[in-house]
Amino acid sequence: MRKILLVLLVAVVSLVGCGAETTEAEIDSIATSTSIPVPGHVCQNETVETVPADYITTEDIELDLEKAVYHIGKNIYVPGNLESNTNKAMNVIEQISGLSFEVNEYPSEEFTDGKTHIFINKDLLYSGAEWYDGLDSNEFGGAYEVNGIVWAAPGNLLLGNSYTIIHELCHALMWRQSPWYHGTTLNEGFAEYTTYLVLQEMEEKYPELAVCFDESATSINNMFMSYEELYEQPIEYWFENSYEYAGNGNYAVGFRFMAYLHDVYGDYTSWIVNFEKEYPFKNKNQIEDESALEQRITILKQTYGEDVLDNFYPWLKEHVNDFEEQERKMIDISDLQEINIYPRYDAIQQKLFLDYIKYNNLYINLEPAKKYIEEYKGMDASKLVLWMPEKMEVHLYHTDGRCIQTTTDGNSISLEGISGVKLVGEGTVERLEISGF
Ligand SMILES: [Zn+2]
Repeated sequence: MRKILLVLLVAVVSLVGCGAETTEAEIDSIATSTSIPVPGHVCQNETVETVPADYITTEDIELDLEKAVYHIGKNIYVPGNLESNTNKAMNVIEQISGLSFEVNEYPSEEFTDGKTHIFINKDLLYSGAEWYDGLDSNEFGGAYEVNGIVWAAPGNLLLGNSYTIIHELCHALMWRQSPWYHGTTLNEGFAEYTTYLVLQEMEEKYPELAVCFDESATSINNMFMSYEELYEQPIEYWFENSYEYAGNGNYAVGFRFMAYLHDVYGDYTSWIVNFEKEYPFKNKNQIEDESALEQRITILKQTYGEDVLDNFYPWLKEHVNDFEEQERKMIDISDLQEINIYPRYDAIQQKLFLDYIKYNNLYINLEPAKKYIEEYKGMDASKLVLWMPEKMEVHLYHTDGRCIQTTTDGNSISLEGISGVKLVGEGTVERLEISGF
């Protein structure tokens, strides 16, 4: 039986949000709309038109994308830009890894379109822990990839809370090149390290995508480890034994090993392709799909040189600080005119917030969040309160599109009847929180 690759990421720290690019038509409509200033609350001539495109499924649906197909169950909240953002994210994964989702050496009998199939399923939600009111609101749970097919919980649907779907797509991508299971260290190392690079790339070049996922530093920060136990055994040993001296055990070891290959040899993925060339999966004569340790060692040495394994620990000792907990960095979303944000629902908090961003006249569309809270979660979103950082200039927009209030108070503001909030001018936010639901 094929190994199921479970990912149990510590999806707690996060940037919440999902970018929306303003289309030319929308920009036109913003520029030409006539504002109706309310006396005493002048917001200049500006109104913002919002088009909430998010929806809640009423039956099982399929979304046919460029390289993937989503199978989304009934009663799941779907962000309106899911399809375009997934297409873009898959392109970034390919670009970063140098591997292609188009490779189809092992076509599925079930799905003949050659695409990567992604199932979003509420059955995967975590349950239990009755100690917390509203835990049934949890949108997170297990996620895994099996035979190139991805399974994930609704909270992973590019709502900004998680990067799990990128991680699982990386497994699916690796499976396409070579379906062998190379043990947790190498398989999870590849998936998690690629995810890290992909998120960094998005944060630097595609901020509209970056805000749809948890931030890159999270993957470093949840993989702390003790090195003493690591060095007691050669790395080959940890390719097939579990490493229990770390947050996310073998993920942490594999992540560092991939970073080492990348840094020293300029490439961390060609061993996968080479493995398949030397030991094609279709020629397997084992009952298990797991590759033999000796074969992994052979291919790594063929690809990177005889001393590739021996040189890892000396490299790691020099680079140990690269893997220390990272401070969160501001993600520059100055180029975005508008974003949607979504509430966090987990066992610890139910909040709506935006954090660690650099903005320039950013409109935060609250309608998707309100829809999520009211229609999806059945809670009351009519009395939201915004907790503003000091000295930030904020314009509030009524549900009819008018700008009805400007403030720089640095206090809490009622968002009753408010459809969106504009952060005026340039600035940074460490945390902008909305509560009251
Ligand atoms: Zn994984």
